[in-house]
Amino acid sequence: MLLSVVIPCMNEEESIPLLVKRLIAATEQWNAESEIILVDDGSNDETWRAICAQSEFHPRIRGLKLSGNRGHQIALTAGLNAAQGQRIFMLDADLQDPPELLSDMMAMMDQGYDVVYGRRSERKGESWIKKVTAHGFYRILNRLSDVPIPNDTGDFRLVSRRALDAVLSMPERARFVRGMFAWVGFRQIGIEYIRDPRIAGETKYPMSKMIRFALDALASFSIKPLQIATRMAFLTLIIAALMAVYVFWSLILYNAVAGWASTVLVISFFSGIQLLTLGIMGEYLGRLYIEAKNRPLYFVDQETSEISDPIVEEK
Ligand code: UDP
Ligand code: MG
Repeated sequence: MLLSVVIPCMNEEESIPLLVKRLIAATEQWNAESEIILVDDGSNDETWRAICAQSEFHPRIRGLKLSGNRGHQIALTAGLNAAQGQRIFMLDADLQDPPELLSDMMAMMDQGYDVVYGRRSERKGESWIKKVTAHGFYRILNRLSDVPIPNDTGDFRLVSRRALDAVLSMPERARFVRGMFAWVGFRQIGIEYIRDPRIAGETKYPMSKMIRFALDALASFSIKPLQIATRMAFLTLIIAALMAVYVFWSLILYNAVAGWASTVLVISFFSGIQLLTLGIMGEYLGRLYIEAKNRPLYFVDQETSEISDPIVEEK
């Protein structure tokens, strides 16, 4: 049985040597064949060169260089498309997800599970903002989504070929991979682990990317925000009706209604609600437009198997 390991890498030149070392040690415990697929997601450091160098030493390492930066989830998808194994193990390049957990995950899969996902019981070396927002994100997502998506899981998981094929058969462009694995079903189980700090470099998820990622996940797995917008409309209508009653009574009692301040307040309140509703609709409409264009998810620029001797060539 062949095991495929898939790792998206963006500007991870410093992590790659240690990553490969620990991965090879972890996969060697498993007495069968394995391939390691490192996807370079349009890095602008020496990541591709590091991948090529590793593939020279270890024939089981395959490198895939995308034509530009397509984002974590697309890079992961590119690697999953290239994977040929019967079981597929995915993790981050920064060693925040310990490869040593592979043997436990394998043992769980032997019991008949199709997906064994890692659940973070603790996050080390991450900022409190990241911890708080991540904690909140999974809980809000679960509230809104119709599919239960396990809390505090990342893309660190071991999956069977049939679970992977199910995910790869989903044609959507907005790919929230961990949610897609939850959606396909089959027998799934979590395994708790402590998330280590990055071994090198900085996080590739600044706040702006995190917000985009969260909105993508919410919009892909729930239409409840649209329904919430409808409910908000009813709520504002009720408030407007109550205010009408107040104005009517004021006219009868005092023959006048006071208020420049209240007018401004009401106008800004209602225009705020309107813009918010429009914004929510826009988020969905934009995604619909992107799906409708149906562009390819990524292009492969180079593969290590195509290059004769990349390091020597340059010198
Ligand atoms: N990554 C990627 N493309 C991107 C951003 C990130 O391939 O545009 C990779 C990155 O190299 C790492 C993984 O995705 O292997 C997770 O990123 P990171 O560790 O920065 O995220 P964090 O752990 O901070 O949430
Ligand atoms: Mg990380």
